[in-house]
Amino acid sequence: MTPLHATLIPGDGIGPAITDAALRLLAAAGAEITWDRQIAGMAAVKELGDPIPEATIDSIKRTKLALKGPLETPVGKGFRSINVALRKEFDLYANLRPAKSVLPGLRFDNVDIVLVRENTEGLYVGIENYVKIGDDPHAVAQSVAVVSRHGADRIIRYAFEYAVKHGRKRVTIVHKANILKYSQGLFLDVGREIAKEYEGRVASDDKIVDACAMELVMRPERFDVIVTTNLFGDILSDLTSGLVGGLGLTPGANIGYGHAIFEAVHGTAPDIAGQGIANPTAVMLAGCQMLDHVGQTERANTMRAAIEATLRERKTVTRDIGGTASTDEYTDAVIARLKA
Ligand code: NAD
Repeated sequence: MTPLHATLIPGDGIGPAITDAALRLLAAAGAEITWDRQIAGMAAVKELGDPIPEATIDSIKRTKLALKGPLETPVGKGFRSINVALRKEFDLYANLRPAKSVLPGLRFDNVDIVLVRENTEGLYVGIENYVKIGDDPHAVAQSVAVVSRHGADRIIRYAFEYAVKHGRKRVTIVHKANILKYSQGLFLDVGREIAKEYEGRVASDDKIVDACAMELVMRPERFDVIVTTNLFGDILSDLTSGLVGGLGLTPGANIGYGHAIFEAVHGTAPDIAGQGIANPTAVMLAGCQMLDHVGQTERANTMRAAIEATLRERKTVTRDIGGTASTDEYTDAVIARLKA
């Protein structure tokens, strides 16, 4: 097997600790990966005065593959999100966020949802401005949502193709076309047209996002694959994380035509950074998604099985999911399962 070359961005806050854990698991599973370590986010601001250095971009251009820890973005001010910038730079239009029940003792034990989020358009295009009225320069703020036919078409098609490839039964198109008749209306129109092409192979329905949120917390087992626009996908994927035990458990793949970046859905968790207690599961599962992406599905499944067995036993797990184990102890337990 040819060894893989991939970029590693440890990230900010708990990022270095959890990516370290993921690397240990990947190595223990026999994945031969040559990592090109690069920095971004606050770590890069501190070291190079640039949140997204050219060397990091060049590395991903070269390797086409990256595993990334969470990056800190100042809220409401300062530089724009680096995550958004990376998704744009490499046109990583599909954000794949699976949430599956594994942890016992939760309200639901039958969640198995793959959320496919449009990753480059919507309200995240960065068209924002203030309008001055009188002497108040910030009297009004505007943010523009952009949905293109091309953008809607490629993400919805991605969701249906994903369903076909992975034996999924249904794709639910989630929107707010009743109010945002143009942008969300276009997304829904494109969705309904594509759904017709897949009739007989993949079932499909559509739901307004608010009703969808309610149904997700009451009857999540009714959902299979969800496809939606950027902001709704961002919010609903945290919701689906909550259904299966929290943010520490759900990975996210950002996939484009040539490049892909794998990460946890969660952020830098500044409240627990440096304490050695972060849950590395999400970024470990992101590592599994990376192996799936390069065709090493068997190895990815072996890693997933070890993670799931450790979680199911719920003995050596981290605090966020009711345990007392440190990041390292949990990682050791998963690796031990791998070898069992
Ligand atoms: P967060 O996801 O960092 O934390 C929310 C809560 O979940 C916190 O209580 C945290 O301790 C907990 N948590 C998250 N991940 C955990 C883990 N692996 N193990 C245990 N507990 C965990 O969200 P936030 O506090 O809103 O954001 C903090 C920073 O992260 C911000 O700068 C934000 O912009 C950034 N962020 C980055 C990404 C990314 O890089 N993809 C995603 C989301 C947020």
